[in-house]
Amino acid sequence: MSSLAKNYKRRNLSFVKGKGSYLYTYKGIRYLDFVQGIAVNSLGHTNPNLVRAINNQSKKLWHVSNSFKIPEGEELAKKFTNKTFADSVIFQNSGAEATEAAIKVARRYFYSIGKPKKNRILCIKNSFHGRTIAAINASGSKKMIEGFGPKVGGFDHFKFGNHKEFKKKITDKTAAIMIEPIMGEGGIKVIPTWCLKEIRKICNKKKILLILDEVQCGIGRSGKFFSFEYANIKPDIVPIAKGIGGGFPIGAVLMTKKVSKAMVPGTHGSTFGGNPLAMSVGNAVMNEIFKKGFLSKVKSNSKYFISELNKIKNKFPKIIKEIRGVGLILGIQLYKDQSKFIESLLKNKLLTIRAAENVIRILPPLNVTKKEINLALKIITKVCSDYKNL
Ligand SMILES: *Cc1c(COP(=O)(O)O)cnc(C)c1O
Repeated sequence: MSSLAKNYKRRNLSFVKGKGSYLYTYKGIRYLDFVQGIAVNSLGHTNPNLVRAINNQSKKLWHVSNSFKIPEGEELAKKFTNKTFADSVIFQNSGAEATEAAIKVARRYFYSIGKPKKNRILCIKNSFHGRTIAAINASGSKKMIEGFGPKVGGFDHFKFGNHKEFKKKITDKTAAIMIEPIMGEGGIKVIPTWCLKEIRKICNKKKILLILDEVQCGIGRSGKFFSFEYANIKPDIVPIAKGIGGGFPIGAVLMTKKVSKAMVPGTHGSTFGGNPLAMSVGNAVMNEIFKKGFLSKVKSNSKYFISELNKIKNKFPKIIKEIRGVGLILGIQLYKDQSKFIESLLKNKLLTIRAAENVIRILPPLNVTKKEINLALKIITKVCSDYKNL
């Protein structure tokens, strides 16, 4: 009997080793891992550069308090501000903490300019921003909130794609609109670029801050460093996490100078956030992702992957409804429940993970090879051929 609580339905499958796109069981059975800890291992398992970085730092210094200057964190923050819209960064340890910090920054900004009543956050119904009490209330998902009352106030919701409701829910109390440009858990639903542009315009007009949750779709996952770059817009606040640490827990909130001014000493903190060990790994990850040609490779692999997936869809039009996604955050939407399909992919040694709306989520490492993509395509085709027998 496991001593772990039952808050996860776990498969009876464990791994002892990982290398790049592959995982190995203790019997040496190899799986092609297109989950990568849910978009976390951006450079695959045990990337040699990351192993080196963590080894080196682990011999020097692991943790000091944020009351001291941490050069490794200065360096990582500088990488983000040099390459993105952001002027400053606060480090955290996870996505939920990053989205919470984003909410805090937005509220504190309006407080600091004498508008403390402008504090409501407008989100998409059934979105995903993490599992803390505030984050589940931000999601507006009945399933996630159930049993965790009282409800945390200050959040409003509109349905994905319902523009009329979206505009109606904006009031002079709206401090920020917080959305995922690509909804990961929600079924790889991409917010069109014209729509993001329009939202930015509305935010400008009504003096509302735009928070774009790039925890899952950021850090090169979409083929751009941030997925919102496709829309050519600038947000005010961006929580990130998953892919930054390549498997080491790191979160962060990126922000403009305008809003960061409100985050004066004492307004926010984190014991672990931004410690030297985490920051060293983060720096090593970013060195790879910011390398010339890295993101264009993500894009070309994505183009190939998506076009081949669409060929499979055309071959099996009664099984696959839609191929979704951008870059290497992809989804195969089925007409029916996807559980058996995912099970069959697993039996054929391909790991994937579900998302809402009957979607099979595919999240290979960003440095996946064409050969590995071809292997996945072969397995997906086989499972489609076997589908009527599932
Ligand atoms: C995973 C995720 C989070 C929460 O991240 P945790 O590290 O699990 O707390 C928040 N927002 C989005 C979009 C995510 O995909």
